[in-house]
Amino acid sequence: MKNVTVLGAGTMGNGIAHVLASHGINVSLFDISQGALEKAIGTIRKNLDRQVSKGMHTAEEAREAMGRIHCFADLEVALKSAELVIEAATEREELKLQIFKDLDAKAPAGCILASNTSSISIGKIAAVTQRPDLVIGMHFMNPVPVMKLVEIIRGYKTSDDTTDAVIALAKDLGKTAIACHDYPGFVANRILMPMINEAIETLQTGVAGVAEIDGIMKLGMAHPMGPLQLADFIGLDVCLSILRVLHDGLGQPKYSPNPLLVNLVTSGDLGVKSGRGFYDYSQGTKDAPVAYLPTHA
Ligand code: NAD
Repeated sequence: MKNVTVLGAGTMGNGIAHVLASHGINVSLFDISQGALEKAIGTIRKNLDRQVSKGMHTAEEAREAMGRIHCFADLEVALKSAELVIEAATEREELKLQIFKDLDAKAPAGCILASNTSSISIGKIAAVTQRPDLVIGMHFMNPVPVMKLVEIIRGYKTSDDTTDAVIALAKDLGKTAIACHDYPGFVANRILMPMINEAIETLQTGVAGVAEIDGIMKLGMAHPMGPLQLADFIGLDVCLSILRVLHDGLGQPKYSPNPLLVNLVTSGDLGVKSGRGFYDYSQGTKDAPVAYLPTHA
């Protein structure tokens, strides 16, 4: 694959574009927000520079990778020579369904349409297109340049050729692809999100504070970061959307999002991307817990 269009230039879209471009693939990056495109280019440049300073690329290779990324505000132009589209737009079902209708109408025949969705049914997304055999879930992990896994989700009508093509691409990108079936939350988030929700419940009921919950889980379970900090990195809005998909799709109260998570998202505290969530990132530090979160023990 030589030409891939990435739709959505946020947290995940910029990471996916970075990894594709640094493995020799031309990337057309599309977003409805000009600001998101500009921010993405800045982030990719900064992350490539960091990789150069760690000896992972030469400065020349980083420059070449940047040269392979082109930003577009017009979707039709962005799709012109696409062999694959990786959709990484906001996690909202109605939005994704609309986007895939649009992609199906505008992308070249034979172009694979992959979604980086964390939880939304691939079958449902495929059903709004005329090419369900070419629709698949390609769930990268955050941060994309660092994390090795790509969870591959086959819809009922996804073809073997489509599956083989995206698994081969994931391998070319230095990732490990692991496949699963199309059920709410797939594997990664079906297991991760209840843990994050339980950590928020533990905080909200006053069992322990942010630093204590994360400290116990980090040291006790040998996790690289605690669940509240991880939620901030994922984006609290993304966590809430995934929990709602699990709750709606599996119908069990254990997936019901904790009201503190709902309150934080409603008030715009989305984690790292907004500068504040369970931690305050406004001073550039990653470990300043927000101390005033209410407890109701
Ligand atoms: P984000 O909020 O950082 O970025 C979403 C981007 O989509 C924004 O730049 C927005 O302008 C853009 N967008 C919205 N509507 C659009 C449209 N119609 N066309 C083009 N662009 C549009 O979100 P994110 O965290 O990057 O998540 C993107 C996807 O990746 C979601 O499906 C999410 O579930 C999934 N995901 C997120 C993580 C994570 O840790 N954040 C991990 C794995 C998968």
